[in-house]
Amino acid sequence: MRTYAGIAASPGYALGPVYPVARRVIRASRRVITDADVPAEIERFRAAVRKARDQIQALVKRLDTELGSDEGEILGSQLLILEDELVWDATQAVIRLERINAEAAFSRAVGDIIARFMQMEDQTFRERITDLKDVEQRVLRAFPGHAPAALQPPPEPAIVSAGNLAPSDTAALGRTNILGFVMDEGGSTSHVAILARSLGVPAVVGLRGQAVRLRAGQEVAIDGNEGRLMVEPDSATRDQLLLLTRKQVVVNQKLAKLKDLPAVTPDGHRVRMMANIEVPLEVSEALARGAEGIGLLRTEYLFFQHGTIPTEDEQTAVYGEVVRRMAGRPVVFRTLDVGGDKVSDYLGAKREYNPFLGWRGIRFSLANRALFKTQIKAIYRASAEGPTKLMFPMITGVDELRQAKGVCEEALAELAAEGAAHGRPLEVGIMVETPSAVLAADLLAAECDFFSVGSNDLIQYTLAMDRGNARVSYLYQPLHPAILRSIAQVVAAGHAAGIWVGICGEMGSETRLAEVLLGLGLDEISTHGAALPKIKQVIRWTGLDEARKLVAELMELATAGEANEHLAAYIAERKRARQETEQES
Ligand code: PEP
Ligand code: MG
Repeated sequence: MRTYAGIAASPGYALGPVYPVARRVIRASRRVITDADVPAEIERFRAAVRKARDQIQALVKRLDTELGSDEGEILGSQLLILEDELVWDATQAVIRLERINAEAAFSRAVGDIIARFMQMEDQTFRERITDLKDVEQRVLRAFPGHAPAALQPPPEPAIVSAGNLAPSDTAALGRTNILGFVMDEGGSTSHVAILARSLGVPAVVGLRGQAVRLRAGQEVAIDGNEGRLMVEPDSATRDQLLLLTRKQVVVNQKLAKLKDLPAVTPDGHRVRMMANIEVPLEVSEALARGAEGIGLLRTEYLFFQHGTIPTEDEQTAVYGEVVRRMAGRPVVFRTLDVGGDKVSDYLGAKREYNPFLGWRGIRFSLANRALFKTQIKAIYRASAEGPTKLMFPMITGVDELRQAKGVCEEALAELAAEGAAHGRPLEVGIMVETPSAVLAADLLAAECDFFSVGSNDLIQYTLAMDRGNARVSYLYQPLHPAILRSIAQVVAAGHAAGIWVGICGEMGSETRLAEVLLGLGLDEISTHGAALPKIKQVIRWTGLDEARKLVAELMELATAGEANEHLAAYIAERKRARQETEQES
């Protein structure tokens, strides 16, 4: 047995065979051809280019009408690449002179241009390299027999292994036959980790090369609580895993009893407990765990699952279904948050050099107004079915908030003109997940109805650590003084303006942090389903004053390390005291 340490991304244990998945980058294979084959190969090349061109044109057209964006122009430049003689003529020349097949000749021609561009200092040429690679893959896929296979779930229960998976890939894989995930890249707040938690599937990420080395069918065990991968586990490890799984079942049974009880402290302070979901499938899980509503619906996953841009009617149907099934409990719809690591090619959100600092969240929506307005109209229409709230992601200042609210007004006017049945979200709020939103919290609070702290991004941007990069994952420090101060500042600004402040980042799902969030004064905590009862239990055990005192002590400390130690000692002492009381009674 070999054991590897990774990052605990989603709790639970799993044992099973490996099912490797990979996003396939097509490499052109080289074949020597005869003189007589030359015309046919040239024709194959031209046909592939025609097909790729048609696809790009169709995409440009759809982007123009559905997205109303200038993203079409970027794809337009891909069209120019296809027509560029450096590619067009050079490929045909290579076929004729070197007598090799069309795919290989085309890849050679593109490779030559890339090599030339690499030597140039100018940034614009560098940017063109991404386009060239995109075009290359697109044309290679257009040759017969090269269409990429969509990721398929395992045919039998298995542990999925991958170097890296985009959240859209994970969404495409779904839940069928997936016992767990192991991945080389990623941190505990990368979107794949979040999705795994939502699906209730154990995951270990950040395995730095071990995941891709696993062979199909090889037996592995994963411990998603500790972040360990065991390859070919021995019988003692298997027994231990089974025991741990059984213990987990007992704990879950105890927690299930809390389902209909409120999250109220012994001294009467009430916190709202909500659930984060990505897809409607998770509504039942949220209800089963006792969620008082959906605190964060990451709407982008509906788009990923759909595979194309869903129409207003399609979105209304899905959003309406979630609202109906929540039966009177509020649903916070967060508008599309693509970009960053949530890239979806068909939406035109492209891979960027600094994706998390790039075209994501509200920036993307404001640049694609037609798409944004369609989504808002669908949310307004779904609001006729029950209570909803609207939330914008990645807000950095009042200007973006005002623009987004402006789009809401336009949406409302259009719905009224169309005579479409609709309601209105009860409240319009923002994610506080950028340092600038923290610093401008008083200004933002004056113009919205609530704040929800997005600690995943807030930690990423405040501590300058890429949340998907395993190398810097040690910097994911929720108890860093800068983070504690930021949250305290946001709560103070929100409360001063009379609005509520919640948290929907993964910090909210960490049991050890429940007292800290209580003491920080958060009014609402939104967690992934499985974490909800545990957080509720801690709140029901802890007095508000006690939690406030703990936070005051933590805020005195200079480092996250010291704060972690202090918190661990506090939790140990509390546990001891609780056990003592339980024994006495
Ligand atoms: C966050 O950033 O904390 C958050 C909840 O949003 P997401 O994880 O979807 O970026
Ligand atoms: Mg975020």
